[in-house]
Parts: sequence; C-alpha cells; structure tokens
Amino acid sequence: MSELHLTEGQLRRLEEIYQGLEEEYLRVAGELQFSCQGCPDNCCDSYFLHHTYSEWLYLFAGFMALSEEKRGEILRRAEVYCEACRRADAEGRRPQAMCPLNEGGLCILYRHRLLVCRTHGVPARMVRPDGQSMEFPGCFRCQEMVSGRSQGEKPPRVERTPWLQKLAQLEGEVLQGKRHLLPKMRKTIAEMLLQGPPALPTPFCRRHEATGGEDIN
Ligand code: SF4
Ligand code: SF4
Repeated sequence: MSELHLTEGQLRRLEEIYQGLEEEYLRVAGELQFSCQGCPDNCCDSYFLHHTYSEWLYLFAGFMALSEEKRGEILRRAEVYCEACRRADAEGRRPQAMCPLNEGGLCILYRHRLLVCRTHGVPARMVRPDGQSMEFPGCFRCQEMVSGRSQGEKPPRVERTPWLQKLAQLEGEVLQGKRHLLPKMRKTIAEMLLQGPPALPTPFCRRHEATGGEDIN
C-alpha cells in the first residue's frame, strides 16, 4: 500500500471548491430567504454518503489534529453509528444516526466538514459526466418553503456542476491517475474514520516484482 496525501496546493484547491459552493449556497439561500435558524431538525443525523478520496483525506487531516483522547471518543461513537446503520439496513430502513463528529448539536470538525455537509439545505442541480442532469430539492424545510411559491415559479438553485468538475479533476491528481486500483468511494464519515486514511494498493505486477517473481497471494 502507498499512502495518499493532499499537498498544500491540493488542500487549498479543495477549500476553494468548498468556498465556491458555499457562496452559491448563500446566494440561493438569500434569494429564498432561507436559513437553518429555528429548525427543529439537525441534518447531522442524515445518512450522508461521501464520494471522493480527496475529501476523505481532508477529513482525516482535521481528525488527526484532535487529541488522542478525543479521537478515541469519536471512534467509539463511529462504531455505534455503524452498528445503527447495519441494523437499519437489515430492517430495510434508511439509516438515521447522529454523525460521530457532532457534539451537543455542533460539528467539532467544522472547518473539515465535507461537501455534502456544506451544501445540504437549498435546491441544487448538477450534470453528471454522462450528461444526465440531477436535481436536489433541498431539505424538508426548504421544500416546504418552496412549495408555497406560486405554481410554475422555479426556485433558484445551486449549480454544482462546475465545482464538481473541479473536484473530479483534483481527485484524479490526488489518486495519481490510479483511480482504477481503488473501489468506488461511497462511505459515511463514521466508516472513513474507522477505516483510517485511504491508501493506494500496490498493483499486482509490482507485488510480483517485490517478491522476485514469487506469487505472494
Ligand atoms: S438544512 Fe434544513 S433540515 Fe437541516 S438544519 Fe437547516 S433547515 Fe433544518
Ligand atoms: S461532519 Fe460535521 S457537519 Fe457533517 S454531518 Fe458530521 S457533524 Fe454534521
């Protein structure tokens, strides 16, 4: 396995992507006069899945800056979270459990929270690389607000496409063009934390070289 890491430049680019999306979010929230203030819900118990190794590394950079004691507490909560997800899965329900990084309603890794955490709320749209357009209606509260608008009046929405294109480009660079060696990324924050930072597996041909031609499997 060879460790993956974000260079300073890559870290800055990821933060610029987050910032761009957040500015878009604020623009749309402003137009809708939408805010999370007074909301009875806390989205941090939503079943959010994350899709890039770059963000996994970013999350881990924040996690490793915490004290060992705090990391231990978080990992214990992550175990509980994953157990709740397994139970929900077995019962055919969508999992709903509080993110292990949430303490007293607040995110303890706020600066390192991931894209989904930053963009959930207002309506958004993106075009996938295969050309398929996807619409996100926003959270339940925003949907209620938007449903009160006169019929046919399209709500403003965040256009995620250019930012996700930048993220896909960054991801390719972080994975050093070896994306094919890794499984498709689809993980909760708890899973990422429990698994540790991602690494690139050694390709079979290299493993073969390292053993002088003997198969190590
Ligand atoms: S995003 Fe929506 S559901 Fe989540 S806290 Fe804000 S208002 Fe509430
Ligand atoms: S990382 Fe932070 S913002 Fe995201 S779900 Fe967890 S506690 Fe909430």
